[in-house]
Amino acid sequence: MAGKTTSKAKPAAYDYDLFIIGAGSGGVRAARVAASFGARVAIAEEYRVGGTCVIRGCVPKKMLVYGAHFAEDLEDCSHFGWSIGEKRFDWKVLRDNVLKDVDRLNAAYTDTLGNAGVKIVPERAELVGPHEVSLASGATVTARNILIATGARPHVPDCPGWELGITSNEAFHLDSIPPRVLIAGGGYIANEFAGIFRKFGSKVTIMTRGDQMLRSYDEALRERLLHISMLKGIAFRFHAEFEGIEKVKGGLRVAMTGHDPIEVDCVLFATGRVPNTEGLGLEKAGVELGETGAITVDRFSKTNVDHIHAVGDVTNRVQLTPVAIREGQAYAETVFGKKPSAVDHSCIPAAVFSHPPLCGVGLTEKQARQKLGAVKVYQSDFRPMKNVLAGREERALYKMVCDESDRIVGIHMIGPEAPEIMQMAAVAVKAGLSKADFDATTAIHPTMAEELVLLR
Ligand code: NDP
Repeated sequence: MAGKTTSKAKPAAYDYDLFIIGAGSGGVRAARVAASFGARVAIAEEYRVGGTCVIRGCVPKKMLVYGAHFAEDLEDCSHFGWSIGEKRFDWKVLRDNVLKDVDRLNAAYTDTLGNAGVKIVPERAELVGPHEVSLASGATVTARNILIATGARPHVPDCPGWELGITSNEAFHLDSIPPRVLIAGGGYIANEFAGIFRKFGSKVTIMTRGDQMLRSYDEALRERLLHISMLKGIAFRFHAEFEGIEKVKGGLRVAMTGHDPIEVDCVLFATGRVPNTEGLGLEKAGVELGETGAITVDRFSKTNVDHIHAVGDVTNRVQLTPVAIREGQAYAETVFGKKPSAVDHSCIPAAVFSHPPLCGVGLTEKQARQKLGAVKVYQSDFRPMKNVLAGREERALYKMVCDESDRIVGIHMIGPEAPEIMQMAAVAVKAGLSKADFDATTAIHPTMAEELVLLR
């Protein structure tokens, strides 16, 4: 006999191979993929499986954007021969349908995790040691690896009366559409909700501390959005900072620097999002944070502690769902799939679902000039056919930025359906194609997208 054997399996050193805190886009992907590699995975979520994107972000927001678009289609339809009876918008119908779909998605995400063999822990979890996690119910579990995927939350400016305002979290649950809305911030959420509220009949004012909106986007597109938004009746106040919000008869009175006070029914804060790192016990596990309060990670999403990683908004690299998903996937492949994978954070396409939407990939014209010196810019400034027939003055603008050899370094578009077109254009930019490759491609006529292969 070759030595003593025992029929009893050695007990696992840890309860789980992987414990994830946060069941949003990044955490769910990491859980599912790690489980597919045979890891014993648990994921804790204190709110709802799905995270910001699914529960109170991208997905319900896009449904509201669709709802808002009907307002323009109904305005325009008479030019296309349609006459309809009295128009009436019922916010509660849209809101409840959207929330119902969010419930469906929440259940689908939960099922996906269950089917993958991931244990869902529906409660808050905090680190109490390098490998120990304490649950709100009082239990403590141990894990060989820990992944922090707790996302971010809306930043609310510190001013007297801030508690009278709402954030995008609450916007999906409003009892009614406020007749007068003040939106603070000039970024994604501000411009998207400005379009939504405006189309549902609100009087909308955007206030922002600087003199620009959507700073990361190409200047020409930003100017075009500002122009069109003003045509649609959205008011803007630049160089405005909160001095205070107070309740007055019939609404809220907001005082701000550089402008007269304004009376509104709702103040929506859309002033950025901060990583959810507080109260997680990170210090007990020795995990370091950066200056902005985000978890510092390397290109493999590893923190300064070898077995603890972080993905998604909590790392404040790029606050976008598809990026968090990629980071979650790469993490699971690296740690459990024996395939080291780092996410390439360059050349990420992104879109703002404003009215109309705008989007970009690669360098803006200004960035390209700063980085490359001489650049070539091709553009098409046109009125989409549908807008012409509808008597709508809104023009679309497409820009292609190339280096001196005509390699495309950026594409930027504002206009109907621009993000749908951008997704494909981004493949070309990422692949390093040139203007000549676009020129060699036959147009699909008549489309808006054909402008991209006909640029002069
Ligand atoms: P953004 O970063 O897009 O914009 C924040 C805005 O708030 C800017 O105008 C900024 O001004 C201003 N701001 C920031 N801090 C303060 C402050 N302390 N006081 C006053 N104003 C301030 O943030 P959002 O909240 O709109 O969205 C958060 C993130 O979520 C986005 O960055 C994006 O990554 C993601 N997101 C993506 C969407 C999409 O993909 N379509 C949709 C919604 C959100 P300044 O320019 O001067 O800094």
